[in-house]
Amino acid sequence: MSADAEIRRLRQQLATLTEEARLSEETFHRCHNRELTLLAAEDLPHLLEALTLGLQHSFRLPAISLVLGDQDHELRHLLMGTGHSPFDNDSLFLVDELLDFSPIYRHLRAPRLGPYLGEEHGRLFPGCNMVRSVALLPFYLRGRMIGVLNLGSQNPKRFTRYHATDFLERLGTIAAVCLENAANREHLVISGLTDALTGMHNRRYLEKRLHEEIARSKRYGYPLSCLFIDADHFKRVNDLYGHNAGDMVLREISLRVRECLRASDVATRFGGEEFALLLPQTDTTEAFGLAERIRERIAARTIPVDRERELEITVSIGVSGLNARQTEDPGAQLLAEADAALYEAKRLGRNRTLRPLPGGG
Ligand code: GH3
Ligand code: MG
Ligand code: MG
Repeated sequence: MSADAEIRRLRQQLATLTEEARLSEETFHRCHNRELTLLAAEDLPHLLEALTLGLQHSFRLPAISLVLGDQDHELRHLLMGTGHSPFDNDSLFLVDELLDFSPIYRHLRAPRLGPYLGEEHGRLFPGCNMVRSVALLPFYLRGRMIGVLNLGSQNPKRFTRYHATDFLERLGTIAAVCLENAANREHLVISGLTDALTGMHNRRYLEKRLHEEIARSKRYGYPLSCLFIDADHFKRVNDLYGHNAGDMVLREISLRVRECLRASDVATRFGGEEFALLLPQTDTTEAFGLAERIRERIAARTIPVDRERELEITVSIGVSGLNARQTEDPGAQLLAEADAALYEAKRLGRNRTLRPLPGGG
């Protein structure tokens, strides 16, 4: 070979290597950025969105789905606690058993790439018929598979078993740790927002949800109502039967209240012997009906506080509704009006429900 030809060959080789280095650096940066978005997700709903829609966008795929094992319904409860429904996200499946969802997850120890097989993979991408190759990326936490991310490409050559999977594997490891952290964080938030005696949410939670519910109600034009429930002459229960008896009564009241509610209602122990409820998509007439059912349910049966004694307990309830009138702080107004109606119910003799006062809006 002449010296010239040798130089040309070397130049060409150098160009190829430079191009390869550039591509792998690009890949590295893309992967790095994906990992950073997962690590930066502020809470569980955002993390789940980053793992589905976020990755779908960044991988430029027509289909993606995330299947997470949730045998104890823990993730579902945590999500609902954040005010999100697990069903808001079409790409997310929270299932009791991963293997029941798809038997192909058996023996899935590492990312598995290959052609799309309708029979095996159909379940993974409902509603999308463009997928020609798939990557199944298991999430492992301390040796246990906690979920699988399914990536679907329209390009049959995008995912083949000849592709390196180290970047995907890394992504799976990071995603699993992020999921665990987000669930733990959500637990902490919930424990700070829950009342230990009744298991109901507390006042802090109500204040947090109040703004969300008002915004939602304004956006969609739904009514929003509020109930303030207060036990009548509760101090006497403590004075006559002791603090433990008082606690049992509060727990029973909270149970009877909850038995009357829908899943979307927000029930909180506002403080002491007072409970505040937010009722989305409920006008004050319906709210009044519900309040009466609650009041009757509590008055109808005595509450046992020890072997011998059963107490007759009643509550008074104030109802209010979010109104169209613009005020500076509609949330505070909603609570204040329910409180005013409750005060009036007390004044008129207790064991009754009062609607918004005339002139109060
Ligand atoms: P009214 O009909 O006007 O509401 O009278 P009331 O006696 O229910 O109201 P008051 O506000 O005078 O008393 C409420 C009592 O509730 C006083 C407080 O000691 C008691 N209480 C507050 N929190 C708890 C609790 O967690 N457990 C028990 N056992 N008692 C509580
Ligand atoms: Mg009271
Ligand atoms: Mg009170």
